[in-house]
Amino acid sequence: MKCALKSCGSEIPIKRKKTARYCSDACYYEAKKLRSCAHYEQIKKPAAEIKRAENILATMYQMAALKKPINGNDLIALNFNFGISTGEYIDTKKRLFKLIGLYGYYLELNNNLIVWKFNSGK
Ligand SMILES: [Zn+2]
Repeated sequence: MKCALKSCGSEIPIKRKKTARYCSDACYYEAKKLRSCAHYEQIKKPAAEIKRAENILATMYQMAALKKPINGNDLIALNFNFGISTGEYIDTKKRLFKLIGLYGYYLELNNNLIVWKFNSGK
């Protein structure tokens, strides 16, 4: 079996434990270090991604305020990330809003988009 550290790729010596994924302790620690960097990147990225999604919802909210119809396709066109949210909210009509920053959105079955701004008193 080969060392799981991509930059190494040496055969794992037979004398190491059967479950060993790295050829040496140095590789093990290097991989661990890389993983924590990757983890840090993952923490940083959603913050930027959430900000971007929040900006898109802000735009949608303004369009809705101008009585322009908005729907799910507008979000898709703006490459909106549907996989992220900062929370959830169920309104009195039992609709599950996904929250992103100050905004919440809900897609109706007909693809109509509802955007709420949560500090607007609405
Ligand atoms: Zn190695």
